[in-house]
Amino acid sequence: MLLDKKLIAIVGGGPGGLTLARLLQLKGANIKVYERDFNKDARVQGSPLDMHEGSGLAAIRKADLLNEFKKSYRPGADKMLIVNEHAEIFLNDHDSKQEEEFGSEYFRPEIDRGPLRNMFLESLQPETVVWDSHFISMEKQNEGWLLHFKNGSSAYADLVVGADGANSKIRPYITNIKAFYSGVTMLEGNVYDAANATPHIHSLIKDGKIMAFGNGQCILMGQKGNGDLGYYLSIKKDENWAAKNGLDYADNKGFLAWFKTEYSEWGSIWEELIEKSVTPFIPRPIYCMPLDQNWEALPNLTIIGDAAHVMPPFAGEGANMAMLDALELSECLTSEKFSTFQEAISFYEKNMREIAAIAAKESLENGERMHSEDALSTMLNMFGGH
Ligand SMILES: Cc1cc2nc3c(=O)[nH]c(=O)nc-3n(C[C@H](O)[C@H](O)[C@H](O)COP(=O)(O)OP(=O)(O)OC[C@H]3O[C@@H](n4cnc5c(N)ncnc54)[C@H](O)[C@@H]3O)c2cc1C
Repeated sequence: MLLDKKLIAIVGGGPGGLTLARLLQLKGANIKVYERDFNKDARVQGSPLDMHEGSGLAAIRKADLLNEFKKSYRPGADKMLIVNEHAEIFLNDHDSKQEEEFGSEYFRPEIDRGPLRNMFLESLQPETVVWDSHFISMEKQNEGWLLHFKNGSSAYADLVVGADGANSKIRPYITNIKAFYSGVTMLEGNVYDAANATPHIHSLIKDGKIMAFGNGQCILMGQKGNGDLGYYLSIKKDENWAAKNGLDYADNKGFLAWFKTEYSEWGSIWEELIEKSVTPFIPRPIYCMPLDQNWEALPNLTIIGDAAHVMPPFAGEGANMAMLDALELSECLTSEKFSTFQEAISFYEKNMREIAAIAAKESLENGERMHSEDALSTMLNMFGGH
């Protein structure tokens, strides 16, 4: 096998990096994951992720973790309300949505980011993840790379896989192609213990998800298994707006004043979210890789997930694509079909760019729909409402 006696470094322990580590370890490869978080207890924020049959779930199955996934996913968390800016309900699938079965193409079970990460971490051999390893640079050494980390340590690897997300520091060693700004900025908020902190929203969301549309703006949110709630205010703004608007993201009061002006057409029910969020709020200008990006494969370096193809989150594909990349790359690296890393990487990358471009296009189109003046009716049509 190509990987025999080789040291593989995966930089980044998100959904992509950890899935790849697990899949390659199952094939007997020698893997280290270098992750910048200080330890495994770093709190993973953001709203839950839904796993798709042909991508995220396919990788979980191949990783022999479907039974573990079944212990950690959240039945019913995929149930959704679509509401207007006054929280009037236009679509409610809590009563009508059938429980789908694993294996059904339409079943998209939800899992919180923390439990998904833990599931993969627990499946890895001890000491696989090297915490507090913030990659800063690398140089060629022998056939591979010498990697350097912020804490002063260094490590050699024959093959490096960049799984370090949208602002990847590995990607520039492969290509200069940069992501473009999608026109949308999301502001992430998190509420701990939503039942007590935000009772009105809590009684509305019923352990599921809410998508609210009005006035070309949206609020998207998902309840988490631990009682917390993650949400995003999503609006069209200039690329540098988040950095230049003068908002203090650590100040709930100031942020609420801004919200009332920006979301002036919206009802007061949403305000408890802002008042009770843990701070700071996290501004996330949303980027997308060019759909026609291309580069020559290298013999000892590749990228997966957001590092390869960040895309807007409006089709819920990003984590799924990262895990699919892990699956496809692991298959290529362990296949007898290829006699060099470069051939395996080249095959993987070509395929990956094509699949990611389709998902990115859908994500961009959904983003346009969700931030248009008639977003509510468009989304109701899409989800089969009235
Ligand atoms: C607002 C928002 C909502 C989203 N909602 C969804 C959704 O519903 N469904 C979905 O499928 N996707 C969603 N996504 C996308 C999804 O979060 C990403 O596509 C997915 O997390 C990508 O996985 P990854 O492993 O490639 O990268 P990441 O999850 O970004 O993980 C990268 C890892 O690398 C580490 N790292 C970064 N830099 C370094 C470094 N220099 N050295 C060492 N380690 C480093 C990070 O700490 C992190 O652990 C959303 C994204 C956003 C912004």
